[in-house]
Amino acid sequence: MGESVKRLGIMGGTFNPIHYGHLVTAESARSKFGLDQVIFVPSGHPPHKRLRDNSDAEHRAMMTLLATITNPAFTMSRVELDREGYSYSYDTVNYFREQYGDGTEIFFITGADAILEIFTWKNAAELLRICTFIAATRPGFDLGDVHKLPEGWQDRIQLMRIPALSISSTDIRRRVHGGDTIKYLLPEAVENYILKQGLYL
Ligand code: NAP
Repeated sequence: MGESVKRLGIMGGTFNPIHYGHLVTAESARSKFGLDQVIFVPSGHPPHKRLRDNSDAEHRAMMTLLATITNPAFTMSRVELDREGYSYSYDTVNYFREQYGDGTEIFFITGADAILEIFTWKNAAELLRICTFIAATRPGFDLGDVHKLPEGWQDRIQLMRIPALSISSTDIRRRVHGGDTIKYLLPEAVENYILKQGLYL
């Protein structure tokens, strides 16, 4: 499976909904770190928060699929949605290590806010050993906090500033709820899906 994929990006997040900030992040990581492929992995059952229900997960998966379909280097995986129990990134990374084999180096891409909590994640030290983290920061994010992580861990975390990340899923949900436009904040297909399904009202 992974013979032609030497450097694999795993893009983890809730994606509720996915927007251009996420897509620019994945594309920047692909280009900057020479990734052959980026797999978007919508969170299934995060141990640290409650998502509403399973239909919510199906909508997030569909929107992620619609958003990634036009980039040949992007794909989406349901691995966390279909796995029973809590979704731990450690299990997800190991799943892809098995799928792709030893010849593939793995990069886990996510928001820098999530990275600050990494010491609470399952098998955090081992996770940082088996993959490199790419932490996307938004304008105004305090990088100083990342430097409070243990030194050995900091070496495994690459920070990447993404101006487009000032777009946020929370803001998009609020806009829909308040009847404001969301045009040009996310792909048109995702915008149409949200409106057609009546999400976030
Ligand atoms: P989240 O709530 O979706 O996002 C946290 C922040 O980071 C938000 O500001 C979000 O922006 C941004 N963000 C999320 N994913 C991003 C991405 N791929 N690229 C750029 N920005 C991103 O994230 P989360 O629930 O904390 O989890 C993020 C990832 O960490 C998931 O894959 C999750 O499974 C993993 N995680 C694992 C554990 C564990 O293994 N124990 C614990 C916590 C998190 P938007 O709101 O605009 O999306």
